[in-house]
Amino acid sequence: MITNKQIADAIFPNITLTIEDLEKKYPLRNLVAGAEVTRFAPSPTGFLHTGSLFTSMICRKVATQSNGVFFIRLEDTDMKREIAGSGERLIEQLKIFDVVPDEGYFGDYEEGNYGPYIQSKRSEIYHTVIKYLLEIGLAYPCFCTPEEVEAIREEQEKLKVNPGYYGQFAKYRNISNEERYQRIINGERYVVRFRSEGNHENKIKVTDLIRGEFEIAENDQDIVICKSDGLPTYHFAHVVDDHFMRTTTVIRGEEWVASLPIHVQIFDAIGWNKPNYAHLPVIMKLDENTGNKRKLSKRLDSEAAVSYFIEDGYYPKALIMYLMTIANSNFEEWILKNNFEHMEDFIFNLNKMSLDGALFDMGKLNFFARELFAKLNKDEITLFAKHYADKYAPELAKRINYNPHYFAEIMNIDREKINPRKDYEKFGNVLDIIGYFYQDLYEAEVAKGLPFNDRFTKEDLIEALVAIKNNLSCEQDEQAWFNSLKEIGAKLNYATNTKEYKANPAAYKGNIGDLAEILRITLTARKNAPNLYSVMKVLGKDESDRRINHVCSLLVK
Ligand code: GLU
Repeated sequence: MITNKQIADAIFPNITLTIEDLEKKYPLRNLVAGAEVTRFAPSPTGFLHTGSLFTSMICRKVATQSNGVFFIRLEDTDMKREIAGSGERLIEQLKIFDVVPDEGYFGDYEEGNYGPYIQSKRSEIYHTVIKYLLEIGLAYPCFCTPEEVEAIREEQEKLKVNPGYYGQFAKYRNISNEERYQRIINGERYVVRFRSEGNHENKIKVTDLIRGEFEIAENDQDIVICKSDGLPTYHFAHVVDDHFMRTTTVIRGEEWVASLPIHVQIFDAIGWNKPNYAHLPVIMKLDENTGNKRKLSKRLDSEAAVSYFIEDGYYPKALIMYLMTIANSNFEEWILKNNFEHMEDFIFNLNKMSLDGALFDMGKLNFFARELFAKLNKDEITLFAKHYADKYAPELAKRINYNPHYFAEIMNIDREKINPRKDYEKFGNVLDIIGYFYQDLYEAEVAKGLPFNDRFTKEDLIEALVAIKNNLSCEQDEQAWFNSLKEIGAKLNYATNTKEYKANPAAYKGNIGDLAEILRITLTARKNAPNLYSVMKVLGKDESDRRINHVCSLLVK
């Protein structure tokens, strides 16, 4: 008679380790009471989704605030879906957002005592556990061919029962060990399945740190735990890893709730303690066409990929701060009170997470982005812009690198004061905002026409501009500069006092605001621009005069 042990040895002849050996090799972590061990476990199958940044940010936060450990594990057992280099890229992108693990997979290296942290390097560990399950009869080899699987599916359809490999339909569940042995010896292809003792009619209770306790149908499927290529499946591998890596808290997307019965069943079957679970709500958005909520989709929404924010020149911290407002509803008030500073002091709480699909709101992200950029000093924002442009925006990089000092002065307009201007939300479109500081872009805007108020004739405009050119110096402080502008205006009959002007507009050509607007439009080709004195100072007297001449020559034509 062939025993389970003989089957296990026939499948894994080279595995000599035991579960006890692994328990010793990966001992319980020596951490302070309450410390949480969290992990982010991406598959190298594509880009970093905004939802994954959300998850990993929360994993990082939960570990940090409990003096625990956050590690990254690469789940690469699906070789067919793997995209070369994507694992490294995920790590690079997380780093940009300051989501850095304490241990685990770091892209080009691994660090930590609980590794390897790349699943494809952990075969011996998985095989040791599978061998144990085979020995105790909780796993068996299944020799189903694709045709047999198809026949099972057809029969289930006919009988109108649940599809899958379970109970009476699990063709190789109850064959004899003799037959198993013979088929293995014959070199037949097989997978290893978990033998489920569950019944789909039964409900089990599971606890989730966000959802609380809820009921869900027990798993009755004999799921594959080891594929015919020897690699484990996700369901099995991550359970083994979370056990031996001593994860205390599994934080992941709610798409995994449905397979939770499988995971808890495996933990229970082996007799391992289960980690705590927190399944995060999926990030949604309002569909512009239907007005309904839907999941952020990689196909439809550029903001579904983290790379979008990086390539568009967002300040990474702004996205993180914004995501935290989705994560905890009390965070927004907290961070506003804290003047957008010291986010690390915020106490995050999984209990305070809303379950009804977090809505991604670009407008709110842009609000955080503007606030945070406004807080940077001249050098910080210039450096950020330069790094960004050098990598992603050649047109901007050319301009910054040609004259970094000039760019810094542009950035410094209305900065470093109590109420700084909040112009910038990202650097991807910054030339739309500051383009007029560059001669070619300025001239292109002028060529499209200038929005002067048509109350003023060409002669009025020229007269005002020439007077300004001849008499207005910016080598004085702002107040003196403004007084000179008023004097120039007074001579040309522009009211310097708004009250007087309002009382009798017909007596004047315009007021001082009109005169400033004429100058603003001339220097910037637009009606809205930052502080005119600063603009003129940054442009310098020569360039300002040149622009006045340029506009006058066009007016004369
Ligand atoms: N590799 C899985 C994924 O790509 C991880 C799920 C989990 O965190 O357990 O989403």
